[in-house]
Amino acid sequence: LSDRLESAFKNLKGEARISELNIANTVKDIRRALLDADVNYKIAKEFTDKVKSKATGEKVINAISPGQLMVKIVQDELTELMGGTEASFETNANPTIVLIAGLQGSGKTTFSGKLSNYLKTKKGKRPLLVAADIYRPAAIDQLHVLGEQVGVDVYSERENKDAVAIAKNALAYAKEHAKNVIIIDTAGRLAVDEVMMTEVANIKNAINPNEILFVVDSMTGQDAVNTAKAFNDRLDFSGVVLTKLDGDTRGGAALSIKYTVNKPIKFVSSGEKLDTLDVFYPDRMAQRILGMGDITSLVEKAQEQYDEEKAKKLEKKIRKNQFDFQDFIDQLQQIKRMGNLKDIMGMLPGVGKAMKDVDISDDAFKGVEAMINSMTPFERANPDSITPSRRQRIAKGAGKELSEVNAFMKQFDQMRQMMKMMNKMPMAGMMGGLGG
Ligand code: GDP
Ligand code: MG
Repeated sequence: LSDRLESAFKNLKGEARISELNIANTVKDIRRALLDADVNYKIAKEFTDKVKSKATGEKVINAISPGQLMVKIVQDELTELMGGTEASFETNANPTIVLIAGLQGSGKTTFSGKLSNYLKTKKGKRPLLVAADIYRPAAIDQLHVLGEQVGVDVYSERENKDAVAIAKNALAYAKEHAKNVIIIDTAGRLAVDEVMMTEVANIKNAINPNEILFVVDSMTGQDAVNTAKAFNDRLDFSGVVLTKLDGDTRGGAALSIKYTVNKPIKFVSSGEKLDTLDVFYPDRMAQRILGMGDITSLVEKAQEQYDEEKAKKLEKKIRKNQFDFQDFIDQLQQIKRMGNLKDIMGMLPGVGKAMKDVDISDDAFKGVEAMINSMTPFERANPDSITPSRRQRIAKGAGKELSEVNAFMKQFDQMRQMMKMMNKMPMAGMMGGLGG
């Protein structure tokens, strides 16, 4: 029994309402969670302000499952912010020229290898990898190794120290060898600097790429915003690649970058294996960020606190014999949401046996609901105020006979009497009163 009861009450809890105060607190928690997920402070604040204004007000407060709705609002907002539906990566041009830019160590060369593998195996393309990193011979070797692993040709010129010339020569080579996608891996520096920017900008101007992808390490968190901005100001790139999104790396950088430069994130890369490249799905990233900050459980917690507050208030009211029609209909609605009334009553201690042969249909409650709905808020809160003339009006409003309203009033009064005696079991007391 206790198992079934527990699960029933769990459901009840899940359906409980949420207060405005709780929304405010939850939003605060969400902001903290976003910061923990490496989202830029300013962006986290603007984002949660938006969520708050959407969540506050009737819609969430009166929702059947406010917690779920709240989570949905956050997730929708996140998804929207990160670009709605997935961004396209067009490779129809022949050749399609893709320029790869980013800081040193961000994962450009690895990504170039992954992208060529992706285009070859998934899109049936004939890619060419181009080593335009003229500063580190090791970088050229690295690209050759990757190219060999995925079976893609690599173009390089070890003696040439002019990246623009290399890129131009590579285009000619591609044409000769019928390559239809050209991926140009460039040199990066540890920090944004003028020489690097000028070099990439010069390559851009010389070859007019179809796509310029900015590669960024998702573990750089807050810094990613400034780097993205610097590269975008200079290159006006067409898309972002998030690398090193392995294991429990947080996706906060995705949110910050998208928000700052408003360019689509096109690929996410995780792990060092060459087949771990994925097209970017905004909704998945939203879920990841949500999951990382465990926002779902934050919302649930807020709701539980609210339920506790509410239960305590109710208990107090019952003890003081102030249980009113509003409390009654709240309880009734919660119980109804739990499912079959008779089953639920059967779970309540001491009620099961007594209820065995009583027919309780949902219809019986409909009449009661209609009567309470015909009461004014004042009448609901003050059951003793309901005079005979008020009863007449309520009967009319509910489409009931006066005698039915009188009978219900009497039952409700008896119920309150019983509650006085059964302080510890408000639900059972209420049920007992109803059944009689
Ligand atoms: P580049 O300087 O921008 O060309 O960066 P590299 O491609 O050389 O990558 C720098 C380091 O990061 C290397 O050790 C890579 O193996 C590693 N790396 C690149 N991408 C990923 C990734 O998605 N996940 C992990 N775990 N490591 C990566
Ligand atoms: Mg490199």
